[in-house]
Amino acid sequence: MNSTQPTSPLLVKAIKAFSDNYIWCIHSNTANYIALVDPGDADVCIKYIQDNKLQLSNILITHRHSDHVGGVEKLVKYCNDNNWPITVYGPTKEAIQYSNIQVKNADNIYLEALAIDCRVLDIPGHTLGHIAYLIEDNLFCGDTLFSAGCGRVFDGTSEQLFNSLQTLSALSEKTQVYCAHEYTLSNLAFALTVDPSNEELVNYYNYVKKIRDKNQSSIPTSICTEKKINPFLRCFDNNIKQSVEAYCNATLTSELDIFTQLRNWKNEF
Ligand SMILES: [Zn+2]
Repeated sequence: MNSTQPTSPLLVKAIKAFSDNYIWCIHSNTANYIALVDPGDADVCIKYIQDNKLQLSNILITHRHSDHVGGVEKLVKYCNDNNWPITVYGPTKEAIQYSNIQVKNADNIYLEALAIDCRVLDIPGHTLGHIAYLIEDNLFCGDTLFSAGCGRVFDGTSEQLFNSLQTLSALSEKTQVYCAHEYTLSNLAFALTVDPSNEELVNYYNYVKKIRDKNQSSIPTSICTEKKINPFLRCFDNNIKQSVEAYCNATLTSELDIFTQLRNWKNEF
């Protein structure tokens, strides 16, 4: 790519899957090629490809859970049947069938068909090997950061998840956040319980309630918005500290301890 030419904004569309998953479809600006992020269901993707006369060239996987990788086998076969070259990227630390290029933190990958550069970030915690893909100011972060919330700790640790969220929080505020689930409204209900005097959070809840009532998507969100309303990125805040201390009936001395108890509280909410 000639870096002196201005780049067009990344064209990203959502393919809905299961009850609340988003499979993100990244389009080429100049051709009919697409990359899919976490295609848990092949059939909805194949329908999208056929309806829009597209050609799948890349699959990007963030982690091993079946609602993120369940469609990969069928999509690879579909590409092979059509004689389409297909590359499947996945995390180095997780064994994912059909992933033919394993990537890790700070790797730069070039999606040739789409002429797109992509940087890999290690963001363990939800799972041990979870990664994110950053394309310009567009973040594909799977089940790590959600709008107004974060993923559960499965086989990673709370400390890993805390550090991963700190990494994402430090990205440019204009970063668009493409997470893998529409959990925003239920996350906001919890966030309001923890941080009821946060005016921006109250306003954001009212905004999301309206758009969800119209069945519109609340995703992408942005790092700027999340830093204002997401309690899991705001464990430094004294109001949140006090709420969490009241929940666990203990004095907490570190942001990590507040985060860990906040995640426990959300699990029970
Ligand atoms: Zn997951």
